[in-house]
Amino acid sequence: MEEKYLTKEEKELIAMLQWTIKFLRNFPAKHPSDIELIPKMIAHYETVEELTFSFAKMREEFLLKMKADKYYLKDIYHDIYCIACNHPASLKSTGQSRNKYKINFLNFTCPKCGATFSFGIGVTVKDTLKNMERVLNDFKDTEYPQKDLEEMRESYEELKASEERIDKANRKCLADHMKKAAFVTAFLAKLTIQKYKFLTNNKTIGES
Ligand SMILES: [Zn+2]
Repeated sequence: MEEKYLTKEEKELIAMLQWTIKFLRNFPAKHPSDIELIPKMIAHYETVEELTFSFAKMREEFLLKMKADKYYLKDIYHDIYCIACNHPASLKSTGQSRNKYKINFLNFTCPKCGATFSFGIGVTVKDTLKNMERVLNDFKDTEYPQKDLEEMRESYEELKASEERIDKANRKCLADHMKKAAFVTAFLAKLTIQKYKFLTNNKTIGES
């Protein structure tokens, strides 16, 4: 199992679980209740150990996917045309810039004339939405063809709704990961107290 995904607290819990399992395996059990209890405890702690690794891996994969989803516009080809020479091309971004409205845009470089330009495509979907919002506001009640604006508003509303669904799903996943982190904290505290108890009373595992 890979340890690189583990938080400091998860590493502490793994170390504590391994200590506890080793202690129980070496414990010279005499009471019948201990002889029955110890293998169950070991099995339980081994499960918690596996779960801790799998939670950490799931969290890492979720965070990586969330980041990749956020910046996917940087990694795909966009069918656009050069602002300077009108040359049409399917291009990947060659960098990014920020405009006076603090919106981050992808930059593209024309393969024909070498001009660098942005095409109103944000670095993230949220940047794209911010830009669309600004354009819709600026051109409202102007000479600009209102039919085109209406189409843009429809695309904007669809994109915004999809982004909100993604945000909601991500918030739910993050909340689940917070619950798992709380479990790690509580379990570590429980085992820390138990370790102290084991070291103080080395005759029995149970309460007797
Ligand atoms: Zn060009």
